[in-house]
Amino acid sequence: MIDEVSYESRMLGRLAMPTRTQVGRALLRTLFKHGGVVKEFGAGQEVVNELADEFQLNRAQRTATLETVYRKEDRVKKSLLWHRLLFRAADLLGAEGLVSRPTQTVRLTGKREWMLTEKGFDEALRISQIPKTAKESLPTKSYEVQKVVKKLLETPTRENYEPFDTARKLVRTVREAGLRIRGFRQAVIEVYDFRCAACGLKINSPDSLCWEVEAAHIVPHGSLGRDDLFNGIALCRFHHWAFDVGWFALLDNYKISVVWGIMN
Ligand SMILES: [Zn+2]
Repeated sequence: MIDEVSYESRMLGRLAMPTRTQVGRALLRTLFKHGGVVKEFGAGQEVVNELADEFQLNRAQRTATLETVYRKEDRVKKSLLWHRLLFRAADLLGAEGLVSRPTQTVRLTGKREWMLTEKGFDEALRISQIPKTAKESLPTKSYEVQKVVKKLLETPTRENYEPFDTARKLVRTVREAGLRIRGFRQAVIEVYDFRCAACGLKINSPDSLCWEVEAAHIVPHGSLGRDDLFNGIALCRFHHWAFDVGWFALLDNYKISVVWGIMN
């Protein structure tokens, strides 16, 4: 067996490839730009080329292959050096707890993807020079938020549902509250298929990351309304406003009752 590591690092050096740390940082920024998730690296994938473009890799750097000899099976496996470098950089981010690996993410979302963790999200914001306070209003996915989403989606309907959470913990950390609200929003709009429950409007931003629809609490959060799917409804911005100011109400059978007032 040839010494794989030194063979690989010799190749990296000879082709003057970017370092693993540089690729890792670029990967965090790319993950952030793609809403927190990218597919496992493979040939012909957009993100693989996007990152290669960012480093202005030349043809030789993009196409260099590594040959690994499998003695047992008596065959040679070829893999792209650039893919290997991307994988190693992502794996390092995984070891640092900044991303969840595809093998870990698949258990949560059913998709083999690299996903930002909350720690990775914070780091991506830091290197993109975006204040941490912007976090709550961003549509970026994170492993921890997806855990909340999964739990909400898996909660079965209960008989005699009680929308008031009278046992709500008074002391909740800012972090915990943030994860809950982001998870609630995402799960609600997902269940409503990103459509307004009142008018059916479904539109996305040009980068496909941000849905127009918003998640609203039926019993307001401030009145101890639960952060679960049964107390949530997806509404477009106009209907969200109209609901909040009392132009319509929701009845127990999910029918809408409209207040007929005089419009000026
Ligand atoms: Zn609407």
